[in-house]
Amino acid sequence: MNAPSRDLRVLIMAPTVKDGDITSELLSGAGIATLMCRDLHALVHELNEGAAAALIAEEHLSGTQKTPLSAWLARQPPWSDLPLLILTRQGADSPDSAEAWRTLGNVTLLERPTRVTTLLSAAQTAIRARLRQYQIRGHLSERSKNEQALRSADRRKDEFLATLGHELRNPLAPILNSLEILKLSGAFDDDRTRQACAVMERQVRHLNRLVDDLLEVSRITRGIIEVKKEPLDLTAIVRAAIETSRPVLDNLRHELTVEFAPEPMCVGGDPVRLTQVFANLLNNAAKYTNHGGRISVTTRHDNGEAVVSVRDNGIGIAPALLSQVFDMFMQVDRSTRRSQGGLGIGLTLVRSLIGMHGGSVEAKSDGPGLGSEFTVRLPLLVNATVGSAAAHRMEPLPSRRILIVDDSRDGGESLAMLLRVLGAEVALAHSGRSALECVDSFKPDVVLLDIGMPGMDGYEVARRIRGNPANRNISLIALTGWGQDEDRKRSVAAGFNHHLVKPADIEQLRQLLTVA
Ligand code: ADP
Repeated sequence: MNAPSRDLRVLIMAPTVKDGDITSELLSGAGIATLMCRDLHALVHELNEGAAAALIAEEHLSGTQKTPLSAWLARQPPWSDLPLLILTRQGADSPDSAEAWRTLGNVTLLERPTRVTTLLSAAQTAIRARLRQYQIRGHLSERSKNEQALRSADRRKDEFLATLGHELRNPLAPILNSLEILKLSGAFDDDRTRQACAVMERQVRHLNRLVDDLLEVSRITRGIIEVKKEPLDLTAIVRAAIETSRPVLDNLRHELTVEFAPEPMCVGGDPVRLTQVFANLLNNAAKYTNHGGRISVTTRHDNGEAVVSVRDNGIGIAPALLSQVFDMFMQVDRSTRRSQGGLGIGLTLVRSLIGMHGGSVEAKSDGPGLGSEFTVRLPLLVNATVGSAAAHRMEPLPSRRILIVDDSRDGGESLAMLLRVLGAEVALAHSGRSALECVDSFKPDVVLLDIGMPGMDGYEVARRIRGNPANRNISLIALTGWGQDEDRKRSVAAGFNHHLVKPADIEQLRQLLTVA
């Protein structure tokens, strides 16, 4: 008997073998497959193989006898509710059948002697009910397969976004470096080239931001983003965000009004992430408001929370879409005129980052054309002192011998040119092996080392450099597209002193080279 027809069997445990034979013959005559079971253990064994129903004489269910069956019934999957037909003794209700009825679930009591039609109709009804259950089982298994397929497609999408972000980020470093070189070398002394350079720089930085968003969102969805919280003054953060967004606001000639709470706004937060949040909200307010609009930022205390709201008199949001604007890739209007070159992930980042800070963000709008307001709430810290966020003054780059190791020629050469312009003595290597030779001959103070190189990767190069005690004073800086915590830990383990993510911020690199 194959598996599906096993599913249609009626298992029989009659009062006697003779009764069993008669019952089996009757049911078989009506086209119902049957199987006689000698005891409850055998019945449970067959139930595991598949059955539509079980027909059991009550004497097999007295006292603890029925335990294996009760245990099997309790283990049924959610779709299953096995029909049990129990043949009771003639006359008054027996305690055994009453107990079975109460405890075994889907039970029909059939009094003996049972009329043939009663028996057949009860068996057929049980089989019909069981067939319905099989249909549900089919739907559930289909759904679970679909869910698995969706989950795996979603995982592949996240992996693809991470790879895409990483691959797109690599070419940006040499472009930005080359622009820096051209600026520093005074190549832009006429207005036209200066303008062209400004356009290139703006566009590359925009691309850079999009790539960063893409990488961020893929980190968030894979749960590998970290916020490093410290006590900080939210007012200073909002000010920094306004400065970040100032070019966009000015460009679109928006009027910005700011109203800060008089009391300190001390919260526990990651300054970089929170600046990113408010700059995002301000950029959106600017993007989704027609030229010359009004944007206001207010901060206040409310019930133990620091509240920041960013309001605009722009295109507004339809009420039905308010809750969806935080969903990933959600854009109310995808036409290029309105979407303004975003990817629809800025607000997803805002919500996730604020959530990681124990806060909330809410969108409000009276509808299309009536402006929008985004309100962020963060728990206020009591009795906390806020560290001074004094800006670092940059020292000029002292004379340094720097070895750059990068398998990308453009990346390495543009950075080398830039550092030479800044006064450093620079050597270049394009592979792990030539880097090791160069360390011996050039004797650098600092090695800027790419990690992902064919053949010997940056970790291995770092380990080998560290393996020679003569190199103990060399400062090793990893310069790589991978900036997750895991990557940073690996570079520390390999002997690096610092880890920078490409495209490295030139100011940050200068500071590191100054102290290295
Ligand atoms: P993006 O701006 O890249 O499209 P976001 O996640 O930042 O992505 O925003 C998602 C969508 O929410 C936007 O496409 C826009 O339709 C809507 N939106 C966001 N901010 C505003 C705002 N201030 N006014 C009107 N619509 C907005």
